[in-house]
Amino acid sequence: MQRHTYVIDHNYRIVYFDEAAKRLFPSAQEGGLCYKLFRNAGKPCEDCPWNPDQPDLAVQTLIFSPERDQWYEITHLEVNWFERGPCVLFSGKPIDDQSRGLFATLGEPPSYDALFELNLTDDTYRMLYSDSSKYNTTAPAGKLEPLPAESVNRRVHPDDRLVFQEFWSFATLLDRIEQAGGVLRNEFRRLLSTGEWGWTAQTVVPVKRGERGGTVVMCFVSDVKAEEGSRKNLAERVRIRQLRERDPLTDLYNASTFFAKAKALVEKHPAQDYEIAYLDIEHFKLYNEWHGHEAGDAILRAIADWLALIAQEFDGVAGHLGSDDFAIALPLGSVTEENIETQLKRPPFDSEETIGFQPAIGVCHIGDNDNAVNLACDHAMIAMTAVKGTYAQRVAWYEKSMAEELESEAKTLLEVKEALKNREFVLHWQPQCSTRTDRIVGLEALVRWQHPERGLVMPGAFIPMLERNGFIASLDLYVWDEACRHLRSWIDRGVKPIPVSVNISRADLYAIDVVEALESLVQRYHLDHGLLELEITESAYAEDEKMATAVNRLRELGFTILMDDFGSGYSSLNMLKDITVDVLKIDMRFLSRSDDSRRSKGILEAIVSMARLMDLRVIAEGAETKEQVEFLQNIGCDYAQGYYFYRPMSAEALEELLAQDGIVDYRGLFSPRMEAIDINALMKRDETSRAVIENLIGGLAVYAVYSDRFELMQVNNGYYRATGCNSVDLHERQYLISKQVPAEDLPFVLNLFDQAELHPGVGAEGTFRRYRLSGELMWMRMKIFFLRREQDHSIFLASVADATELRASAHK
Ligand code: C2E
Ligand code: MG
Ligand code: MG
Repeated sequence: MQRHTYVIDHNYRIVYFDEAAKRLFPSAQEGGLCYKLFRNAGKPCEDCPWNPDQPDLAVQTLIFSPERDQWYEITHLEVNWFERGPCVLFSGKPIDDQSRGLFATLGEPPSYDALFELNLTDDTYRMLYSDSSKYNTTAPAGKLEPLPAESVNRRVHPDDRLVFQEFWSFATLLDRIEQAGGVLRNEFRRLLSTGEWGWTAQTVVPVKRGERGGTVVMCFVSDVKAEEGSRKNLAERVRIRQLRERDPLTDLYNASTFFAKAKALVEKHPAQDYEIAYLDIEHFKLYNEWHGHEAGDAILRAIADWLALIAQEFDGVAGHLGSDDFAIALPLGSVTEENIETQLKRPPFDSEETIGFQPAIGVCHIGDNDNAVNLACDHAMIAMTAVKGTYAQRVAWYEKSMAEELESEAKTLLEVKEALKNREFVLHWQPQCSTRTDRIVGLEALVRWQHPERGLVMPGAFIPMLERNGFIASLDLYVWDEACRHLRSWIDRGVKPIPVSVNISRADLYAIDVVEALESLVQRYHLDHGLLELEITESAYAEDEKMATAVNRLRELGFTILMDDFGSGYSSLNMLKDITVDVLKIDMRFLSRSDDSRRSKGILEAIVSMARLMDLRVIAEGAETKEQVEFLQNIGCDYAQGYYFYRPMSAEALEELLAQDGIVDYRGLFSPRMEAIDINALMKRDETSRAVIENLIGGLAVYAVYSDRFELMQVNNGYYRATGCNSVDLHERQYLISKQVPAEDLPFVLNLFDQAELHPGVGAEGTFRRYRLSGELMWMRMKIFFLRREQDHSIFLASVADATELRASAHK
């Protein structure tokens, strides 16, 4: 074993390496990046002794290579390398070589005279180096515990013996090192080989290594007189460079050790095929936010314990690569869906708290090229990303197409960045219209990519990719800015503006301060908050508390919030209770995808009536035909956006359109609630006339009546008063409302509806019993009018009144 030397320039490119370095790093190559070729790392090594910001003249340091189970003494030196300008020369030497030519070669005095590795766990020591010309030292290796006692009498000055013994009290050593900030040092007089006493310093630094993560400390012995300059830093440097092999939290191998160990494992068993599994916890950041870091750490430890067990069982190697990323190398075929499923049924993954926070796992076969372990790990990670977000699937095996897809994504991302600079993204505008008058009430701004070669590219081709990598925020900021800029320019040109809605992605929340960004835009362009409406997709609410917080703040500031793509599947109607939005956008296309068109119509109708009940406005999106629009009118959906009215269009086309007379309804989306018949506009504002109207109108309800039951679709305030229900109770009972009627009265009520249907102009009237919310029976008087027939039910309008008192007095 001999010294190896190589030189890199200030960009970490190799400019020279000698034969020994070539043997040590067979892939070394002039012009290559040292960290890539030597460590297969993606960035300069953390333990690189050279710090470009603070170049030292010449510094020695120690590096432990887990791959070779070997300590190296490394010296580096800033040099001017022929035509290459300032470079760094590294020279390394395995430490257990007894000769000491290295530092002398480089013109540096040695920084220490002896170096010991003390394994506190195993109670052993190794002398890694000792200058025999200076001291007559101990055996090269042996039991640790007796060492201080043995040395103290033979080699330590009588006056220093007490201090020495205290210093080497192993029971408290680690604590004292920690208290001392990681490096413990003291000076003693020691017997030199000349027979004289000489002051020596002993410096102790803990490092972690060894199969079971045993605790090891290094002891440097140096001549105090010769000690100066950079040498003082040596022990410090060793500590900083974290020679530790294991992650302190999980006690698994850290990344660099894991790769080295996995490589060694694979090389040791050439007949056996191996695979690597990469594991990452879904939404771990969020979990920490919700449940605290301690709970997060507990999950990490649970996974680490599991992996350690598997590694032991299958003769593999497990590592904790950092944050919530783990990897494990195992004999091929060890990872199975059953294994993982069993594990996920155990704590902590069997609890409600961890739903949605399960690990996603990718697996890849380790090939047999030089770089196989790292490559397999990269591929396993790619496979893992295919699992993320699909709750049913927890593991995926790597396929070539996955990497290709990623590559093309990376390419597109670069193109997008360029395109943003070149302002290739343009906005198209799609009007939102009244289903009754066809007039325009609002606009949605939709982004398009005006690609120099490919022409107009639709958002579907790039938005999902940008959402995955978080870059969407840059595009969205641009789009929001453009939308505001257009609004401002219309206002400046004397065009009366219409509200414009822009889309917000969930990923935006993590990349930028959305609230701040939007608020500063409306300030900058001097816009009314009401002119900028915000579309947030439904799925974002379902997953994210952060979204709810942002939405509340945006609403407080005066923005209108639209829930986009409602009904796309994530949410239930029930979640509407907890969320504050102003407008629901229901995508008709999601509904019409269902085979049962009757059912989807029913759903749409239910959503519309529910929304009304809750004071939400509704826009149906994707309305393409006249029939669809008529249906929307029938069920009381007042607004729609879709090809039936207009396709998204360029700004020029839009301006031409808006110039036509009477095409815009400037009231925007307003809320046509049933009790919103503008009483005050009709009557003078005096209490009597108000009371008259209220009583005249009384309780109103819209029912859907089936052969065996009826459901409530819409009510006004008068209905609440008459029945003593509030909107939330009613919301829950809406579809079970016929259960509020005693069974023996139900046929009577159903018959009443039949009669009303038979006599459309006249209607039917009757009084029957019904339970109040309190459980108490009441008499309800109802007058019913037939409105229309649907597939399997009919729609009725009814006026209702509480007839309990009337009944009571009549029966007296
Ligand atoms: P979205 O927000 O739900 O927008 C509505 C999409 O439906 C638009 O597609 C629109 O052209 C299309 N559409 C409207 N009416 C009809 C119709 O009658 N029939 C059919 N078949 N389609 C109709 P587009 O422009 O391709 O946008 C797709 C999605 O891309 C949008 O869905 C939105 O989620 C996203 N997106 C568009 N622009 C932006 C943006 O600036 N930022 C973000 N974050 N997302 C955007
Ligand atoms: Mg939208
Ligand atoms: Mg939509």
